[in-house]
Amino acid sequence: MMSTMGDSQSRPMLMVKKNPIVDDYRISNQVLGLGINGKVVECAHKPTGQKYALKVLRHIPKSQREIELHYRAAHGCKNIVQIKDVYENTYAGQKCLLVVMECMEGGELFSRIQERADNAFTEREAAGVIHDIAQAIHHLHSMDIAHRDLKPENLLYDKKGPNATLKLTDFGFAKQTSNSLKSLQTPCYTPYYVAPEVLGPEKYDKSCDMWSLGVIMYILLCGYPPFYSNHGMAISPGMKKRIRNGQYEFPNPEWNRVSKDAKDVIKGLLKTEPDDRLSIEQVMRHKWICQNTLVPQTPLLTAQVLKEDKDTWEEVQEEMTNALATMRVDYDQVHIKDLNTANNPILAKRKKKQEAE
Ligand code: ADP
Repeated sequence: MMSTMGDSQSRPMLMVKKNPIVDDYRISNQVLGLGINGKVVECAHKPTGQKYALKVLRHIPKSQREIELHYRAAHGCKNIVQIKDVYENTYAGQKCLLVVMECMEGGELFSRIQERADNAFTEREAAGVIHDIAQAIHHLHSMDIAHRDLKPENLLYDKKGPNATLKLTDFGFAKQTSNSLKSLQTPCYTPYYVAPEVLGPEKYDKSCDMWSLGVIMYILLCGYPPFYSNHGMAISPGMKKRIRNGQYEFPNPEWNRVSKDAKDVIKGLLKTEPDDRLSIEQVMRHKWICQNTLVPQTPLLTAQVLKEDKDTWEEVQEEMTNALATMRVDYDQVHIKDLNTANNPILAKRKKKQEAE
């Protein structure tokens, strides 16, 4: 038996299988990773023996949204982890959603760079990596999906060895931005019940991904993040202030070797005002990205610094996680403010009435 999930957009419909997953897959006890929502384990497709990764989620609307957006987003983009199958099974009376994904055997982006010989990682390679991540974001943003949790641990390589592909995963905070409703505004179908501000600027959610891209690019070029807290706190008031004021530097000796083009892209991405940040289209057009194979092959200090600072990497990740959480909340509040102040005739009428009273 099967059921479908999602809307009637142009992507093929996701079929949720209801038969027990163990009919089709052998589940191993090899844990590939732990996340906030549960664990990811290895499994094997019985008929072919092919290895996959299995993510188990509680059957709640949030999980359904995550899977639906991930499935639609992955379609046609090699830099996003593909979903092979989704099952709805019951375990000990608990309904679960089981997501079978391609298995990313190459591990996390920065682990791989850290394992490199000192100075072997070059600016040209960094440009190639950023180009691949940008391609995933471009694909998402053109579908009006914001990922909103773009951080190092969600960037994985599909295999070990030199020809691996870097892919984005974890759509747990992904959001369909309101612009998608514009697709309903065809000449013959304009939904009169959708308020203009709902169709309006949805740039904040997307600009979250652009900020992340800037931070990842910065770390890729030097081995440490642009913003860090002073006191080992997850996100200190000082760090929040530095992020808000755009207080970061390009210190030597790591940065004097890095090209001006690279620094320009970072400056464009780490702008404090979401409105001022580069859009993904602008990034894709920048020559450091679109001509990444011509970027100078300057050896970087990244691998060396990552190795030296190995002990603080967990903290770096935690800080980025928290900064993104803060940003999501702040930007959601901007949305609410927008709604309150936007030119909404019904709201205006109600306000007038209230004032009159
Ligand atoms: P959560 O949403 O709970 O944070 P993630 O989807 O980020 O979960 O997965 C948690 C961890 O599991 C990842 O950081 C990664 O190490 C590992 N992982 C996730 N997906 C895969 C995959 N397709 N292949 C291999 N490992 C994976």
